[in-house]
Amino acid sequence: MCIIIDANFASDMSAHPAEPRYRLVREWIQQPEPGVRLVYGGALGTELKKIHWFRNQLVEWDRAGKSKPFTPVALAPAARALRQGGLCKSKDDFDTLALALVSGARTLCLQARADKALAQDFKNPKIISPQRGGVYETDKHRHLLSHTEGCPAWNGLPPEAKKRDQRRRGRRR
Ligand SMILES: [Zn+2]
Repeated sequence: MCIIIDANFASDMSAHPAEPRYRLVREWIQQPEPGVRLVYGGALGTELKKIHWFRNQLVEWDRAGKSKPFTPVALAPAARALRQGGLCKSKDDFDTLALALVSGARTLCLQARADKALAQDFKNPKIISPQRGGVYETDKHRHLLSHTEGCPAWNGLPPEAKKRDQRRRGRRR
């Protein structure tokens, strides 16, 4: 799996759905090929559901099997370990980082300029491993819209799709 969308990114996506950077993310989630593409949950899930447009999208995507919620209980042990580990520069994003560790998602859609600490944490291999995390901010990062080894959809992908996504992501980080 795939991607995590931060609340600020979701809010701007909801305000400007036609902007290329947001349209690409939506089209990637909604493409007809089966498989979960977006994960959310915990404190981040609560924030996302405050955004009216995005909440409706989540209902639609959950129903279509394109997105998957993780419960706070599922995220709690990883979030606690991150808090106690003391490596995180970001302050209140333990659930977002835990979501990556628990689900296998390795792309975070983030307004990175506004949240440098979380962007650094997500790309820090001491925090997010063994697969590296990447931050999607603009359409220049479209190569990050891919499945990664270990994501929940990974085992169900045909070999061709696995190869394609490895190539797509391997080109740049
Ligand atoms: Zn995936």
